[in-house]
Amino acid sequence: MELWFTEKQTNSFGITAKVKKSLYSEQTPFQQLDLIETEEFGNMLLLDNMVMTTERDEFVYHEMIVHVPLFTHNNPKKVLVVGGGDGGTIREVLKHPSVEQVVQVEIDGKVVEHSKQHLPHIASAYGHPKAKLIIGDGFMHILESMDEYDIILVDSTEPVGPAAHLFTKGFYAGIAKALKKDGIFVAQTDNPWFKADLIRTAIQDSKEIFPVTRLYTCNIPTYPSGLWTFTLGSKTHDPLNVSQDRFFELDTKYYTPKLHKASFVLPKFVGELCK
Ligand code: SAM
Repeated sequence: MELWFTEKQTNSFGITAKVKKSLYSEQTPFQQLDLIETEEFGNMLLLDNMVMTTERDEFVYHEMIVHVPLFTHNNPKKVLVVGGGDGGTIREVLKHPSVEQVVQVEIDGKVVEHSKQHLPHIASAYGHPKAKLIIGDGFMHILESMDEYDIILVDSTEPVGPAAHLFTKGFYAGIAKALKKDGIFVAQTDNPWFKADLIRTAIQDSKEIFPVTRLYTCNIPTYPSGLWTFTLGSKTHDPLNVSQDRFFELDTKYYTPKLHKASFVLPKFVGELCK
């Protein structure tokens, strides 16, 4: 008997993966948490039946949410990650020698606990001396922070459940307050095929607060539509104006300095969401 996992990306379209076995399943106080072993993409983390990350394609998302803003900033020292329970984002942040501390505020400790067990390569940075993990609501942490971070990365789930308020204009205003005077934020802002309105709103809200607001993309086969976006808001630094000598050799499989710039070149229908 074959076992398949299907994520319904809309009410009438989805992605399906052949499953070798279920590794863990729990209804936590925040969400349904599953880890499954798939034939094509290895171990896969699901939250509320949505693909969060997989062993095979995780590097794309984690490299692009981190290295674009961190190379855009001229000297990132203190970084905040909201969410990011699988650990991939802090792993990439810690590849930058200028970083003195990365603070991660993750609402669900069960995601961290089971990512360490079943996604060890992704969760490899937990316990690093420069990494501080806080189990709590990223929204509240942002409200309590002032002029503290060079970079803020919002690596959250979809804007439903515990992540609902991480996509509001008030949250972006709180991010601006929590950032230093030359700070940069990046939020994952889903896909232009099924979530165009989310992208349009995120860009507009960011433009009202940050002088530099740009959208960039990458290809993630296990995410809805495969075309994923990030919204970058910056108080001063422009990701398209990074001097060549800022870049240094980095252990990556997707990100390159050329791709950094190219990721901001948008298909026409995507660019129109940013007008
Ligand atoms: N890369 C994935 C994506 O783009 O959907 C996100 C991965 S990560 C697993 C998302 C994390 O956000 C989850 O661990 C979830 O518990 C966390 N999260 C959701 N709402 C949160 C909140 N308000 N504060 C902190 N973490 C939150």
